[in-house]
Amino acid sequence: MAKEELECSFCGRKKPETSLLIAGLDAHICDRCIEQAHGIVVEESKQSGNSDLSAELMLKKPKEIKGFLDEYIIGQENTKRVMSVAVYNHYKRLLQPPSEDDIEIQKSNIIMVGQTGTGKTLMAKTIAKMLNVPLAIVDATVLTEAGYVGEDVESILTRLLQAADYNLEKAERGIVFIDEIDKIARKSDNPSITRDVSGEGVQQALLKLLEGTVVNVPPKGGRKHPDQKFIEVNTENILFIAGGAFDGIERVITKRLNMQAIGYSAMKTDVVDKDNILQYIIPKDLKDFGLIPEIIGRLPVLTYMDPLDAKTLRSILTQPKNAIIKQYKKLFEMDEVEFTITDGALDYIVDKAIEYKLGARGLRSLCEEILTEAMFDLPSSEETKLNVTRAYAEDRLNKSTLKKLKAVS
Ligand code: ADP
Repeated sequence: MAKEELECSFCGRKKPETSLLIAGLDAHICDRCIEQAHGIVVEESKQSGNSDLSAELMLKKPKEIKGFLDEYIIGQENTKRVMSVAVYNHYKRLLQPPSEDDIEIQKSNIIMVGQTGTGKTLMAKTIAKMLNVPLAIVDATVLTEAGYVGEDVESILTRLLQAADYNLEKAERGIVFIDEIDKIARKSDNPSITRDVSGEGVQQALLKLLEGTVVNVPPKGGRKHPDQKFIEVNTENILFIAGGAFDGIERVITKRLNMQAIGYSAMKTDVVDKDNILQYIIPKDLKDFGLIPEIIGRLPVLTYMDPLDAKTLRSILTQPKNAIIKQYKKLFEMDEVEFTITDGALDYIVDKAIEYKLGARGLRSLCEEILTEAMFDLPSSEETKLNVTRAYAEDRLNKSTLKKLKAVS
């Protein structure tokens, strides 16, 4: 066959009509047909990927889930165990084929109570990472009742869709972390007058979502309006994790414990661990704090975060898989600088984080303050080693404005 007579075996286009014609054994394919075929392959793999989500969601046993959490999160033993079981049950529930009997396993949505910076968000992130499911983190304070300035509760699902790259099936098995759930408590002392102050309306709006319903979600977010296209999202298999600091709930718990103690003279309040009152929390305390009973009912797994003591903070610096110090080591390594830090310096950082009530979140900002100068200078110097001692850390922090750190706490 003469060269110019070559043609695409798929569409019949002659060689001069194509930009590229690739030869096979007995056939040829042109650039356009390659593109089309590629489109088909992508589409096909997307579809088969969708139907195979259950296989993708390889469920670990609670002990394995906790083992995974242990790699990233220090302490918080109780919450890790509770979460492992709740997550296991949740995904077991949705991987089960529909059963003949009438036993319907209910959702195990979770509520975590604990000071800010104790790892609540980290917990949700780690679970999502382990399961390889999309995660949306939303702040309850921006949610308002429909009709008010702010975001509708549906916006939560818009975020989840975005996190799932608009793969609906993935989104419907995802995790939503609702932070600052305590800020929508009924007796909120939030002085805002421009929007729903009580928060009760938002709680009501959240109910259906938590329980499982089909919601019309504006894919790009924003307020609903009539001529907008919606995506129908079923929240039945979405795991909701709520978190909040519930400032002042210790008083509610202590009051209840004292009342109980009056009834039972044998039950002495001195057996109560006053440094960690949260561990005694029960759902009724959430109600007394201002969550409506229906919301509490739909977040049946209640757990608490332990306050972070010096020992825990110290471990957070160095132990987790992506511990802060490990991250700096890596950063310096890229500039061929060997970074070491002494125990004294680590203790000093922890002391400062506690002194300025910065918690775990402050560890990072303290490290930045201490290391910024070195990270600025070393890449353009001949230096191949950096050893941070307590004296070095003290000197750097004294030079930087500690007040600045205090302001962000
Ligand atoms: P919260 O959601 O409770 O306010 P975060 O999860 O956002 O707290 O934690 C703040 C920072 O502190 C994160 O960078 C996280 O990595 C770190 N951190 C907090 N608690 C722990 C913990 N128990 N183990 C490891 N890191 C933690």
